[in-house]
Amino acid sequence: MPGHARQSPSTVAVTAGRPPHDAGQPLNSPILPASVLIPGADSEYARFGSPAWTPFEEALGALEGGHCVAFSSGQAAIAAVIDLVPRDGRVIVPRAAYSGTLQLIRERARRGFFTVDEVDVENTVQLVGAVREADVVWIETPTNPTLMTADLEAVCRASAPLDTIVVVDNTFATPLRQRPLELGADVVVHSASKLISGHSDVLLGAVVTRDLPARRTFERRRTRLGATPGVLEAFLATRGLRTLHVRLDRAEANAKELHRRLASDHRVVYARYPGFGTVISFEVVDGHEAAEKVTASSELVIHATSLGGVESTWERRRRHDAEPDAVPDGLIRLSVGIEDVEDIWQDVQQALDVLGR
Ligand SMILES: *Cc1c(COP(=O)(O)O)cnc(C)c1O
Repeated sequence: MPGHARQSPSTVAVTAGRPPHDAGQPLNSPILPASVLIPGADSEYARFGSPAWTPFEEALGALEGGHCVAFSSGQAAIAAVIDLVPRDGRVIVPRAAYSGTLQLIRERARRGFFTVDEVDVENTVQLVGAVREADVVWIETPTNPTLMTADLEAVCRASAPLDTIVVVDNTFATPLRQRPLELGADVVVHSASKLISGHSDVLLGAVVTRDLPARRTFERRRTRLGATPGVLEAFLATRGLRTLHVRLDRAEANAKELHRRLASDHRVVYARYPGFGTVISFEVVDGHEAAEKVTASSELVIHATSLGGVESTWERRRRHDAEPDAVPDGLIRLSVGIEDVEDIWQDVQQALDVLGR
């Protein structure tokens, strides 16, 4: 981290977490399958720690300005953080956020582990008011898939004099668009399965902390839960991260243009875009059946879940039972890729044409 302090994030994405430049050594850290390690260092068994994860952890830690612990998936990282909510504590979550997060938190609350308050993250007065009562404030901004944005600075300012832990799911923004630890958040979580890996072929997650003791806490959680990353996944995610800035710039430019065009299309009721990132959410006239028809009619844009890949994908989110009720039934989430924007637009247009309007 220290050596990267003055470099631009684009440079850090390329340089952080490299092996030393010694004669004959590979430029990139190799894929490192190992369950057993020779005693004498931090870990003898890979559930307790593995050098296979170090390049990824160093690179993402440097980008976020903190200490990174990789997990087997974003959901595993989220579970490790939720595990630390005190018994009978109070958690604040967005009303509409990543379904896996909400399911886990609601389930734990039902089982009596802690209580939950669900808030509208765009209502800063309500959000800041709730911070005073909370042990953990879970913020996702922008939210998946409704693309609501929270005033992170206001939340962090309100929590600073308190013991409240502010956790930010930074999956949609990535550290290239938002660095929550710098704003005063305590913990950042990521689904590295999305933009960071970027090619729809990896499941990986991460927790990034401000200080080393917190990092140790999450390393212990990872060991206890057995939520250890795969070595191939760690390699691929590091490789993906090397081009994050270039992919993000391109997909974001595409998303801006597609949002502009969608917003003025007569078959689109509204199109939401937070001004950065690669995801657009929108609804078409005639409701959720029309949304199903449109998303099933694309050729270039793949009708599939997830987001953040080089390829454009879209789906009606509520086709999944787990999606929270706060997400509109007809909402289409479009993850914009790095294809030529005119080709994406042409395909979106021909899919909208099936509405016959
Ligand atoms: C996908 C996603 C997750 C879950 O991550 P996995 O890697 O799929 O386990 C968490 N948060 C957000 C915002 C996501 O989009």
